[in-house]
Amino acid sequence: MAEESENWSRPDWWDDAACRGRHDLLSEFVTSAGIDQNRSRYTKQVIPWRLVQMCKHCPVNEICLETGMRDRYAIRGGTTPGQRDAIIRKERRDRAS
Ligand code: SF4
Repeated sequence: MAEESENWSRPDWWDDAACRGRHDLLSEFVTSAGIDQNRSRYTKQVIPWRLVQMCKHCPVNEICLETGMRDRYAIRGGTTPGQRDAIIRKERRDRAS
């Protein structure tokens, strides 16, 4: 695990991320999220309005979402982990029908 994080580097698109250096906004989401220990799922997910607007106008929001579909913790492309789970479930249902 340590080896993995030592080798991890930020992707090139991160240079253009609107939230780069905005830990003040990103931490508002983290502190508003709760995890149900029994189900290992987020039970309370609120994206601060300012963060929603920032993601909406971010120049890399599409690749942020695309590469973060399985991110279990962060806002990616203006979505919460729970919203991305819902997108994945819908895509599976659509493929099955
Ligand atoms: S879409 Fe949102 S979370 Fe993703 S890089 Fe842009 S501002 Fe950050």
